[in-house]
Amino acid sequence: MSFEDLIRDIYQNIQQLEDRGETASYIPELSRIDPSNFGVHISTIHGDQFGIGNCYDKFSIQSISKVLSLILAYRILDHKIWDRVGVEPSGTAFNSLFQLEADQGVPRNPFLNAGAIVVSDILLSHLKHPKADFIDFVRTISNNTTIDYSSRIAQSEKEVGYRNVALCNYIKSFGQINNEPSDVLDFYYDLCSLEMSTKDLSELFLFLAHDGRDIASNKRILNERQSKRINALMQTCGFYDESGEFAFKVGLPGKSGVGGGIIAIHPDQYSIAVWSPKLNKKGNSYKGMKFLEAFTTRSELSLF
Ligand code: GLN
Repeated sequence: MSFEDLIRDIYQNIQQLEDRGETASYIPELSRIDPSNFGVHISTIHGDQFGIGNCYDKFSIQSISKVLSLILAYRILDHKIWDRVGVEPSGTAFNSLFQLEADQGVPRNPFLNAGAIVVSDILLSHLKHPKADFIDFVRTISNNTTIDYSSRIAQSEKEVGYRNVALCNYIKSFGQINNEPSDVLDFYYDLCSLEMSTKDLSELFLFLAHDGRDIASNKRILNERQSKRINALMQTCGFYDESGEFAFKVGLPGKSGVGGGIIAIHPDQYSIAVWSPKLNKKGNSYKGMKFLEAFTTRSELSLF
């Protein structure tokens, strides 16, 4: 069966499933999203593309942006970045505080909120115009000028960001944040507010299926070693305390966001994005996980 027929078939099956998840109500603007949205888009390294459902609608990618901020910081600091943030799965929720004390303010990995806050601090220290430079970077590597922040989402998150304020201040107390916490957090909320469609996401992340090179221009975004490591981190840490479950059921590097999006990469094959806003208890898209599990199972293509 072709990818297109398979995606169509699985999409119809999953759409009929009872959606057992809940939208992310802790960010008020996210709870207003129509939970029936459901989109899927795949881009292959051979240039094939296919999308279905709400695949062209932009939504809040939230923590998926942590991969992009990490990539930019990794390009700037290379391996020195690992002095500031670890590479171990945490087995904890995305917004957990509790390992930070034992780890002296060095977050276990860059995809936890704590880790992404440290990455935001690194970017603030190295970019002249952090907000403008970051969006330029994303637009350049994706060749997509329609990608933008949502000030509405960023503001909504800021108003209720008590947990992130605690994380940032706590890390600062260990001397692991160099800038003013309020500046770091404003930038972090901007990063999380990026809006993209599943089509935008699958096109943008395809370079990670291609050893770090853009498909069309063959230009390097990351070197091979860096690209391998980003994929490894997505594989081991991309779904917080559900990372093992995602590897077990889907078997690909991936990253989720509380907006209900998931991106998954099959090295040397494709990148696929799914969006369905209702989340399971671990904060990952309920239908998105089910879709990808069925897709890698039925296509008989995964890393394992
Ligand atoms: N912006 C969200 C937060 O800081 C990101 C969480 C996520 O997508 N898992 O809580």
